[in-house]
Amino acid sequence: MTVHFPFQNSYSALPDSFFARVAPTPVTAPRLIKLNRPLAVQLGLDPDMLDTPEGAAILAGKTVPDGADPIAMAYAGHQFGHFVPQLGDGRAILLGEVIDREGVRRDIQLKGSGPTPFSRRGDGRAALGPVLREYIVSEAMFALGIPTTRSLAAVVTGEHVIRETALPGAVLTRVASSHIRVGTFQFFAARRDTDAIRALADHVIVRHYPQLREAERPYHALLAGVVARQAELVARWLLVGFIHGVMNTDNSSISGETIDYGPCAFMDAYNPAQVFSSIDEMGRYAYANQPRIALWNLTRLAECLLPLFSDDQEKAVAEAQDILGAFSDQFSAAYQAGLRKKVGLFTERDGDEALIQDLLDAMAKNQADFTLTFRKLGDAAADDAADVRAQFMEPAAFDEWAGRWRARIALEQQGAAERQAAMHAVNPMFIPRNHRVEAVIQAAVHDDDYAPFEELVKVLANPFEDQPEYAAYADPPLPDQRVLRTFCGT
Ligand code: AMP
Ligand code: MG
Repeated sequence: MTVHFPFQNSYSALPDSFFARVAPTPVTAPRLIKLNRPLAVQLGLDPDMLDTPEGAAILAGKTVPDGADPIAMAYAGHQFGHFVPQLGDGRAILLGEVIDREGVRRDIQLKGSGPTPFSRRGDGRAALGPVLREYIVSEAMFALGIPTTRSLAAVVTGEHVIRETALPGAVLTRVASSHIRVGTFQFFAARRDTDAIRALADHVIVRHYPQLREAERPYHALLAGVVARQAELVARWLLVGFIHGVMNTDNSSISGETIDYGPCAFMDAYNPAQVFSSIDEMGRYAYANQPRIALWNLTRLAECLLPLFSDDQEKAVAEAQDILGAFSDQFSAAYQAGLRKKVGLFTERDGDEALIQDLLDAMAKNQADFTLTFRKLGDAAADDAADVRAQFMEPAAFDEWAGRWRARIALEQQGAAERQAAMHAVNPMFIPRNHRVEAVIQAAVHDDDYAPFEELVKVLANPFEDQPEYAAYADPPLPDQRVLRTFCGT
């Protein structure tokens, strides 16, 4: 028996300038530390076969499975606002694509599998800590119902990678509906290769926006489609307190999935200016800046598409601006609708937005925990306000607001139990809290102990359920547990 991957590769059939053919670099002693069995099944793979030494060898890049066509994808990108005309997969290799059980084409990519022609000065490797972080957070996002790349497996390589110190090396198997980024378009735009931009746009339309094939102006519709998905995505991030940390254009997906989990984090206490990433010194990618940055990135995408819009540059720019102009309203609509659900409103009335903003302001002033405030507000709908009050430094600040909120919900016909259930269905109990993620990484890296990792992944798979036996996972960090900075680990 061999491990069978039913590959049906399409990206590697695009022109040569789109990628470099390169095989993963073998490692000495691969050991599978995590296999995502439900995802394997979803992808049409046999989890029992993957959970073997042969499977581990494939997931570590030691053996290339039949039918794979390993490539490193070319892309460019604005990193913290500065354009780099060539980035590309410097430590990731796309093995190939499979069609999953729902008929969706999915990339299977190894991250940390050795150098490629795009590695520049990097070693092409990944350290165990960032691999575990990406596994935990991407799977938590999936369980929260937010579009994201997935994690199929993590292996340790048996080799060390040299960062500030020597760290255990690891490879993550990442699954995405594609790894095409805003930066992929920028790569060809920087080379003024309009044929390549058109070929890429056509590929993307077939793959991610098939309904647009019939559109009168498919490339305009494509931009509008990406704008809509990014607006929705960033709203979803804000509604769970997620901070991506490195929203560079090369980390901005055309399919509308969250991609490239580096120094990302969920906020504990609500603070719109929150930044975690150690490399984000200017706060460019702070929590509340994310919608603005998404639009900035989309504007870079629009620039790439201008030659496909019209030969008349002025006309093309005006059309692009028109499409980009939809972002703000789309974002606000998704964000406000999400907030209304978070506070248990079934209907829409004048004054709702201000009421909710008052809560957020009080939360910020009182360092209220973002996740628990909303979760416990659900219980307050059923008259038990003790836990939500306790989130506020000055509980009276909540009481003042709660009086107005109770008057507002009294205008709706839904009862307390129905409201509480609806609120609990959108306000998670469990998020991947930073101090928990750090503790899991420490146990794995320093003690080779994966039990904490397993437990955290298990709890986060059901974020909307109370899981009383794991209640401690819902707790915010104690002052000495607080993680102030997160690192890319590249
Ligand atoms: P990231 O910060 O992970 O989004 O990566 C930005 C760019 O740096 C991408 O082109 C990566 O492929 C590249 N890169 C990051 N880490 C490494 C590494 N260890 N070796 C080679 N290239 C890397
Ligand atoms: Mg990246």
